Amino acid sequence: MISVPANVTKNDNYDFIVRPCFAINIFFITFDLLCSLSSFHIKIKKMQTIDNYNFAGKKAIIRVDFNVPLNENFEVTDDTRIRGALPTIQKILSDGGSAILMSHLGRPKSGPEEKFSLKHVIPVLSAHLGKTVRFANDCIGEDAKKLSSTLQPGEVLLLENLRFHSAEDKIKTVDEQEATRNFARKLSGYADVYVNDAFGTAHRAHASTAVIADFFDDDHKMFGYLINKELEAMDRVLLQSEKPFTAIMGGAKVSDKIQVIDNLLDKVDNLIIGGGMTYTFIKARGGQIGNSLCEEDKLDIALELIEKAREKGVNLLLPVDQVLADKFENTAATLVTDIDNGKPGYMGLDIGEESISLFRKVILESKTILWNGPMGVFEMPKFQNGTVSIAKIIAESTEKGAFSLVGGGDSVAAVNKFGLADKISYVSTGGGAMLEYIEGKVLPGIKAING
Ligand code: AMP
Repeated sequence: MISVPANVTKNDNYDFIVRPCFAINIFFITFDLLCSLSSFHIKIKKMQTIDNYNFAGKKAIIRVDFNVPLNENFEVTDDTRIRGALPTIQKILSDGGSAILMSHLGRPKSGPEEKFSLKHVIPVLSAHLGKTVRFANDCIGEDAKKLSSTLQPGEVLLLENLRFHSAEDKIKTVDEQEATRNFARKLSGYADVYVNDAFGTAHRAHASTAVIADFFDDDHKMFGYLINKELEAMDRVLLQSEKPFTAIMGGAKVSDKIQVIDNLLDKVDNLIIGGGMTYTFIKARGGQIGNSLCEEDKLDIALELIEKAREKGVNLLLPVDQVLADKFENTAATLVTDIDNGKPGYMGLDIGEESISLFRKVILESKTILWNGPMGVFEMPKFQNGTVSIAKIIAESTEKGAFSLVGGGDSVAAVNKFGLADKISYVSTGGGAMLEYIEGKVLPGIKAING
């Protein structure tokens, strides 16, 4: 409100006070409106999606995850990741576009190495696509430039391993960051549109996973089908979980998963702990663990997690019995004891039958299940029973209607090894990326497109 001085008349009032005030108000209202419209515009900015984009006549550069295992003859022994990328490639080709595929394979130290060459995936990829795949033997060389510029609609070009160039993933110093930007700029120059479909590397801010997105505007960068599916599955578990929600965490070390467990305690009804990480909890609460794996410096954290679970009303289940071994070998002499009664000279390498029954009851009552990390040293047949049993119980619960998400290299290897992958609702392709997403971290590869 503006107060009018006592000595002004009604007309003065209008000319000197009301009119200017009116004008000022209009100015501010218009300004406000423009501001809110622009922020509204930002909020409603629609992300480009692969389904909405017509690739006809366009070249798409796709970050895929072809980091597949090869045997000594350089043959692909598990093509899950190649199959995972097919829907995106096929959509682009069927629209009338062409696909330039880029990936890493392994961890080459410095420059090209035969065992890390992506040319080894060509036979499997060609067979799946039913067409010849061209190959550029240096991802940013003259070869790649020429092959990409002459690529015709319907054709596929695979670039050699990105990590043969340190600029792909060495980004510590300012000079390295500059080299990474230049490298990403070169890759972006091959195509009209960028598609990221490599969830397994979405937690890395590398040239091909994040930096390259800067060289495409919002209408020309998007996720592929695989990343979309991963995010959907993860959000279904983390944001829209049907209760009861049970998380099963296993694997070797608790230190790798503290943040994940901490974050999950706000979401789950039951938290099952198994595998080597069990023993840090058991020792922390005063049990005898003999030679079992233990992280002495994480005993306090283990106790804090137990206490936090209690405060939040989360049912934290540790194994109640264990298979002890006198050495870390499949030929070891074994015995079964209560979990708190380890034996000097022995190490716990699997959970026992009583633990399996306890976990079974909870898993079968669950409507949402998240599993990461094996229950024992499942690589050795003598200690695989706990992991196989939990995988089977998750499959059984899924059949009864639960939504199950399994992620992390070893748990995925376990469900594959036991032939249960198609009985799980979703098997994630990204171990580290999945864990970081569950920790609540922003993944650079996702942010690069989502903003
Ligand atoms: P992670 O990468 O943390 O998920 O750990 C997976 C590894 O943990 C696998 O190689 C298992 O063999 C190992 N593991 C599981 N349980 C145990 C255990 N009780 N003692 C030692 N290693 C284990």
